[in-house]
Amino acid sequence: MKIICVGRNYKDHAAEMKNDVPVTPILFMKPKSAMLMPEKPLYYPEFTDDLQYECELIIRINKNGKFIQEKFAKKYYGEVSVGIDFTARDVQREHQKKGLPWELAKAFDGSAAVGRFIPITPDMDVQNLPFNLRLNDEVVQDDNSKSMIFSVDHIIAYASNYFTLNIGDIIFTGTPAGVGQVNGGDKLEGYLAGEKLLEVYVK
Ligand code: MG
Repeated sequence: MKIICVGRNYKDHAAEMKNDVPVTPILFMKPKSAMLMPEKPLYYPEFTDDLQYECELIIRINKNGKFIQEKFAKKYYGEVSVGIDFTARDVQREHQKKGLPWELAKAFDGSAAVGRFIPITPDMDVQNLPFNLRLNDEVVQDDNSKSMIFSVDHIIAYASNYFTLNIGDIIFTGTPAGVGQVNGGDKLEGYLAGEKLLEVYVK
């Protein structure tokens, strides 16, 4: 399986990072080894002094596909959750400055925390789901999937032009504003529509 991530998919986050709002989705990937399974702690990596959380709505692909049309994208996923795209921000800034790829800042072991998936029910609108992240019991990110620049269906259609989507692949759909540092001893909890689906301790 693979993890496809979207960068700068919320205007407020692009603004806080002093980035332009993109005209097409910015995609990058994390390997399977980046997955932080539920209940597992994240060990603070030794190569960064600025580890940051990015809470994101995530979806899981349940049907193989290539060149998927946006209007059929809903047939390719059936579950949703929240995840954290952990980022070594100092490493990312250094690589961006030099025009180098982001993998060392984004794709390291444990960098993709994945919450418990819940089925998407017929009455659920994936583009209108509130979600938030609590850091040590304080809400630090709080937004709604309706604020996405590119919808889940658009991301799936766009990504499938380049990468075959396989059953079990996970898509991180981008983070809203409010990203910040984590430190050893921190507790992070992700909520989707009021339900807690993710808990990560940093060691
Ligand atoms: Mg992100």
